[in-house]
Amino acid sequence: MATAKDKKKRVLIIGSGIVGLCSANYLLRDGCDVTIVERDPLGDGTSCGNAGAIAAAEVAPYPLPGLWKSVPGWLMDPLGPLSLRLSYLPQFLPWLYLFLKSCNQTKAEASAKAMSSYLGSAFDDYKPLLGSAGLEGLLKKEGTIFVYKSDKGLALDNYFWDLTRRNGVTLQSLNQKEIHEREPALGPQAYAGVYTPDWGHFANPGDLVHGLARLFQENRGNHLQGEVESFEIKDNKPVSVRTRDGQRIEFDQLIIAAGAWSARLSAKLGDKFPLDTERGYNTTLPNPDAELNNMVVFAEDKFVATPMNIGLRVGGAVEFAGIEAEPNYARCDTLLQLAKGYLPTLNGEGGTRWMGRRPSTPDSLPVISPSRHHDNVHYAFGHGHLGITGGAVTGRTIANMIAGRPGTFDPKPFHINRFD
Ligand SMILES: Cc1cc2nc3c(=O)[nH]c(=O)nc-3n(C[C@H](O)[C@H](O)[C@H](O)COP(=O)(O)OP(=O)(O)OC[C@H]3O[C@@H](n4cnc5c(N)ncnc54)[C@H](O)[C@@H]3O)c2cc1C
Repeated sequence: MATAKDKKKRVLIIGSGIVGLCSANYLLRDGCDVTIVERDPLGDGTSCGNAGAIAAAEVAPYPLPGLWKSVPGWLMDPLGPLSLRLSYLPQFLPWLYLFLKSCNQTKAEASAKAMSSYLGSAFDDYKPLLGSAGLEGLLKKEGTIFVYKSDKGLALDNYFWDLTRRNGVTLQSLNQKEIHEREPALGPQAYAGVYTPDWGHFANPGDLVHGLARLFQENRGNHLQGEVESFEIKDNKPVSVRTRDGQRIEFDQLIIAAGAWSARLSAKLGDKFPLDTERGYNTTLPNPDAELNNMVVFAEDKFVATPMNIGLRVGGAVEFAGIEAEPNYARCDTLLQLAKGYLPTLNGEGGTRWMGRRPSTPDSLPVISPSRHHDNVHYAFGHGHLGITGGAVTGRTIANMIAGRPGTFDPKPFHINRFD
């Protein structure tokens, strides 16, 4: 006879991006009864159309000492990497304040140390999931080159590279000839480079998330379509969610992995967090006429190009405009224009343009944390530029939390209360 102890834990996950899907598949492996509630088709969020990197070398945070000095120039430059819609400024100021407060050496050193231990298992934690889903062939782990146009540009990143190296990342300087040997499609504008082997990419992040969604359903995970609007609390404990179309879904444990929308939901449970969204853009070119062997990071102009199984994806940019604002696809054209400077034969015709919303925290560390108030609520959001990179680590960590097992890195820097 089944006892209460044998009863499977009913875990409800809000959101089916890379973070929700990795968490769901790890929880199924633990024997939990897992439901994902998602308002859109499974895996169609920001996780579907991005640059696909496992950027395990990106341990240095975005807020770095002195970074603020570059911001006015970036904002004034129509080809610059950063844009801000003026109408959004009042809502953006609190996040900006906390970001600027994090731009100091003490904080950067602590964040890099935390990220280095978090990302240490980025590749290994994908292995069981990719193996079960038959997706191993999708991952290419062949490193990347960070490309610079000038010595001045390279010198501006001195502290970034020093911090990265001191946190265990393998780096190798490349001159123009060595860059060209690795990536013949790059023209003379690729003047200097830094190569790291601690990097990989998925040949298509859409295939990754849809493959993980398939694995989830094959292993009897439940999928309900609906947009969560509210929570029902009984005896001081959340017990169910209510969707916009009136569904009531009960749970024992709740995980909020709703990407850029997560803080709106966490606030309803009393857990406020300063989350904003860095919107980013890309274009996938089906006939690029410029073949890259591996992903390339154009470090001075802050965009990337990834060779995918559907063409070459050129993208990046950071736009602060809030979640709901209409996309400004002119950003895609700007990035293609920049890319043509580095890839002289690039054919920009026939591309598919895309915009996604990075869920971004002011210190660029994700939130992987229990709730401040409810011990059956957990948060997995705020992965910013590194959701694909860290998705499997977060998924495994969430499963450990639910099972009461210890984690593999210090959880404190990732707690939801760190800006209190
Ligand atoms: C241009 C660009 C390039 C990028 N390149 C990379 C890269 O190379 N490598 C990397 O590691 N990262 C990259 N990223 C970042 C990465 O895409 C994100 O960090 C990641 O997708 C976030 O995943 P997520 O699961 O948290 O959110 P999402 O993928 O956004 O999923 C959240 C889901 O929650 C659902 N949802 C929200 N609210 C509700 C609700 N109330 N009820 C039900 N469902 C809800 C949404 O519909 C969505 O499907 C890039 C991002 C951009 C924009």
